[in-house]
Amino acid sequence: MFKNVVVAIDLLLEPARLVLEKALSILATDGRLRVIHVVEPQYVQYSFDPTFTGSLTHDLEENAVETARNRVAEICEPYEIADEDLCVVMGRPAEEIHEFAKTVSTDVIVIGSHSQVGWRRLLGSTANAVLHGAPVDVIVTRLPAESAS
Ligand code: AMP
Repeated sequence: MFKNVVVAIDLLLEPARLVLEKALSILATDGRLRVIHVVEPQYVQYSFDPTFTGSLTHDLEENAVETARNRVAEICEPYEIADEDLCVVMGRPAEEIHEFAKTVSTDVIVIGSHSQVGWRRLLGSTANAVLHGAPVDVIVTRLPAESAS
């Protein structure tokens, strides 16, 4: 059992909930679970449009983070996790997850074995990147293939 668990989730309901349930299963009764989701900048579909000004870019980023925050809250709703323990940031997932684990007190990071199929696999998985250079132990919970779709 661990006292301080950080769980990294994507925004697909079923795999995210499986990862959350794994994290809860190893959490001590007096432990604290923190959830992180990282919004990847490529999802903000504006970067090559020169007519977009700095403030519009900023608004779109804020919007993407806000939308993701709502989705994370919706996914986590059944588990009654405090709002302050839901973290949504923009950046590169592995880097931000490592940084978050260093900033808050963390005994272990929990991730799933995959999130989505397709192009992400070709670029190398988040799971692999989180494992490399992790500041604490990492538990990778194996997800059934069908939870990726
Ligand atoms: P992947 O390697 O991208 O297939 O994802 C593996 C696992 O990494 C997922 O099951 C999540 O636990 C975590 N993960 C993937 N993408 C993100 C993200 N954007 N933010 C936080 N965690 C993520």
